[in-house]
Amino acid sequence: MLPKVPVQQKSIEQYRGIVGDDVLERLYSLAAKLKGARVVNINSTAHGGGVAEMLYSLVPLFGSLGLQSEWRLIEADQDFFTITKFMHNALQGMDMLITDEMKAKYIDTNRENAQLFDGAYDFVIVHDPQPCAMITELKETIARKAKWIWRCHIDTTYAEDEAWDFLEPFIEHYDAAIFTMDDYIKSPLKIPLAFIPPSIDPLSAKNIIPEKRVQSDIARRYGVDENRPIMLQVSRFDPWKDPLGLVDCYRLVKKEHPDVQLIYLASMADDDPEGWHYYQKTSAYVEGDPDIFLLSNQQGIGNVEVSAFQAMATVVLQKSLREGFGLTVTEGMWKRKPVVAGKVGGICLQIDDGLDGFLVCSIEEAAEKVNLLLSSHATCQRIGDLGHEKVRSRFLTTRHIGDYLELFIRLMDQVEG
Ligand code: UDP
Repeated sequence: MLPKVPVQQKSIEQYRGIVGDDVLERLYSLAAKLKGARVVNINSTAHGGGVAEMLYSLVPLFGSLGLQSEWRLIEADQDFFTITKFMHNALQGMDMLITDEMKAKYIDTNRENAQLFDGAYDFVIVHDPQPCAMITELKETIARKAKWIWRCHIDTTYAEDEAWDFLEPFIEHYDAAIFTMDDYIKSPLKIPLAFIPPSIDPLSAKNIIPEKRVQSDIARRYGVDENRPIMLQVSRFDPWKDPLGLVDCYRLVKKEHPDVQLIYLASMADDDPEGWHYYQKTSAYVEGDPDIFLLSNQQGIGNVEVSAFQAMATVVLQKSLREGFGLTVTEGMWKRKPVVAGKVGGICLQIDDGLDGFLVCSIEEAAEKVNLLLSSHATCQRIGDLGHEKVRSRFLTTRHIGDYLELFIRLMDQVEG
């Protein structure tokens, strides 16, 4: 059996006060058609990054709506994760060599995991490239009686041909694929497609704002001065999150606002061996600046700390060069913060430039927008309030669940029709 991730129960009713009756009625009416359906989500890690973050909410909420819902992980060694990180980078457009040996290891590991796949399901949702090839190994087993859905969280607009061509034949085995945006489809796929943006859970520890007293304790614990302006970026150490560009942006802002501090919060994911390398690179680049704080789960940064720093931030940044969606943008907007973020990928779905945040194309432009925001509390507030409302209407878990249920029904109708 593939290892199962335990999740805490959640009730969909708890969301009524936040999203309103209509949203819940839609979910109940969709779920009624799927009562008892068995759903399993499969990915490669239970910690770090946006996919794990979402599954902790989506999996129990499917359960609360009357489906049987599970989350399972694939098992793999570090070499496999290094290879899939290469694939991930190539799919985001980085020039990477993926050798035949690497491809063979990828397929072997998927085969081993396919052998561990057990149980009967109605819907199998496979996230990202790591477990994508399992399906081809399952052939006519009971597992293939389920509807298989591949969920791509990556911005594949600029995917390297070789990486895409390697993955595409596996994707074509699925009954459907989900991308965040239609721009991400590199070449026409023959299977049914759905375009579903990700979401945040307003009731997760990450999104509940800790009391002021707790925020102050956390600031003190890490030596941050909460009374001075804070630029915050929350991301894995990854070249696409542009940590060095962020430091350059802070240095430009510092010339106009000498009291500004930069906090970079990271979590080191199991399937992200590159993380340490980029942490060390960034740490060396910072040159001991006492107003820059590079903190991670290694120093006890967890959900409450992330939420507290998001609440304390003056400006939230996400200086990404590629971004599948950018949940950290959504989290910042939900906390009524002005967000300055790279004009890339799914970030453009979230921010209307100049209205509920800023989209930027360079370090200089990012610094200019941060300077503007640090000079006007009223602007920060206005943008923050609009961002919060945008997230409430479009990017909460409840909308996301409804989109999944609609896709399940569409696939079921195909069978019956
Ligand atoms: N995250 C976190 N702690 C960290 C860094 C990231 O909890 O130190 C979370 C972050 O709050 C967000 C997710 O990891 O919920 C990152 O998702 P995003 O879509 O921004 O990026 P990804 O890592 O999936 O590329």
